[in-house]
Amino acid sequence: MSDSPLPETATDAVEALLDEVTTEPQPQPVLQVESLTGKVAIVSGGSSGIGRAVALELARCGAHIAFCYLDDGGQSRSEAKEVVSELRQMEVQVLSRSCDVRESSDVNSFVSEVEEELGGIDVLVNNAGIGRDAPMWLMTDHDWEAVLRTNLDGAFHFTRAVAPSMRAQEYGKIVNITSVHGIRTEFGISNYSSSKAGLIGLTRSSAVELGPKNINVNAVAPGYVRTTRLTEGVSPEILDHARERSALGRLGDPRDVAGVVLFLCSEAARHITGAIITVDGGYVL
Ligand code: NDP
Repeated sequence: MSDSPLPETATDAVEALLDEVTTEPQPQPVLQVESLTGKVAIVSGGSSGIGRAVALELARCGAHIAFCYLDDGGQSRSEAKEVVSELRQMEVQVLSRSCDVRESSDVNSFVSEVEEELGGIDVLVNNAGIGRDAPMWLMTDHDWEAVLRTNLDGAFHFTRAVAPSMRAQEYGKIVNITSVHGIRTEFGISNYSSSKAGLIGLTRSSAVELGPKNINVNAVAPGYVRTTRLTEGVSPEILDHARERSALGRLGDPRDVAGVVLFLCSEAARHITGAIITVDGGYVL
């Protein structure tokens, strides 16, 4: 538990949490992974939060980065531009554009473009994800489908699209960003929990099917991670509860997740596949 004084209002609490969101100047890699130099990595949803941290961490270790985002009229295009310039400072090649992971044709053309411009794909991080919370008796078809199609179908579309080239080169690392809410659940997130539990199933199935061609497929299950959108979208009470519930007494940082993704993409993890690694400060214990 923090010793800092308790905020007086909900606005103070949100501001305090936003202050906690990390601003990164140019930190050193969490883990130096030389085997990634010159490799090509795709990160879905790389324009913000955990996806951004993963893209930066892979680039710090020398991987060329292709990332996509949705860009449905929000601020993601300008966020993506910032990430592109941060990545270019690391002198790696970068490809970034909007691509809707819910649409398999969009994903297929993104993957073809990456193969043409950057070469064969070595790493795929299925990170793009959304939540649309409501008790299930109030949940609309639209909100159910939007979450399942983004969080689960999206990962399937990308995995299927990269499988032929990874199989041909007999090398690949795939990491799916699931959630502790795919392992345990809360009130009002039946769509999100189902999508993330499904993603755990997809991780294990992909590990079985792709393992014979030296492709590792694993999942990382974060607990609550301080991303700007999380702190904006979730009430301070829920975040306080998450902090109190976790054994380490704190929320995660995007770099906590990125470091584990990096490890799973390294040769140190060459014998790990089909694993679900929680990065939650002990939240699910
Ligand atoms: P953010 O909202 O910060 O980032 C989500 C990214 O996914 C954005 O780049 C977004 O693009 C992209 N995206 C969303 N929908 C689509 C789509 N249909 N096609 C392509 N890209 C899309 O989220 P976080 O960083 O917080 O979360 C990242 C992942 O981690 C998610 O899968 C989430 O479920 C998971 N996670 C997060 C936790 C947290 O506490 N933050 C905890 C556990 C898991 P755009 O901005 O254009 O919409």
